[in-house]
Amino acid sequence: MSRLDVFINRMVSQRACLNYAAEQTGDMDGPVFELGLGNGRTFDHMREIMSGRPIYVFERKVESNPASTPEPEMTILGDVRETLPAALERFGATASLIHADLGGHNLEKNDRFAREISPLIEPMLAVGGLMVSSDRMYFDTLTELPTPPGAVEGRCFVYRKD
Ligand code: SAM
Repeated sequence: MSRLDVFINRMVSQRACLNYAAEQTGDMDGPVFELGLGNGRTFDHMREIMSGRPIYVFERKVESNPASTPEPEMTILGDVRETLPAALERFGATASLIHADLGGHNLEKNDRFAREISPLIEPMLAVGGLMVSSDRMYFDTLTELPTPPGAVEGRCFVYRKD
């Protein structure tokens, strides 16, 4: 499979998983968290499919397309290893949807990082909330759901807090 194929599969899967998670959590009140703004493409998609829901963006350095840059009051700046514990104190276990796309090209490094931040993300979800990730996560209590239609197995992961 070419790198172009891998990239396309990741994009198609992100969209399918985000659409599924947004629909499944549509009647929940809690905030939505976007971990990793990057260019802002997934943030832009999330605000389009979840208009009216508060979306907080976690990023260490904002360098997004100006058209996809969150408002300063919705931006939580810093390393997620520090900002996630602070956000847990601020919001409690209230998140309706958390999307994480924090990885780069090094798959081993991505996996190590996913192991490190899984315990920081796990307590933030409200009951019924969903977590969508581009990397496999390592949760003790969340249930991994089947890949939704339109997503490619292994390119996107969805977890639920029961
Ligand atoms: N989903 C984005 C999009 O559609 O444009 C792409 C996100 S990009 C792959 C990953 C982002 O995560 C980068 O902007 C990087 O700065 C951020 N990031 C990586 N590790 C981080 C950390 N420890 N704390 C905060 N942000 C981090």
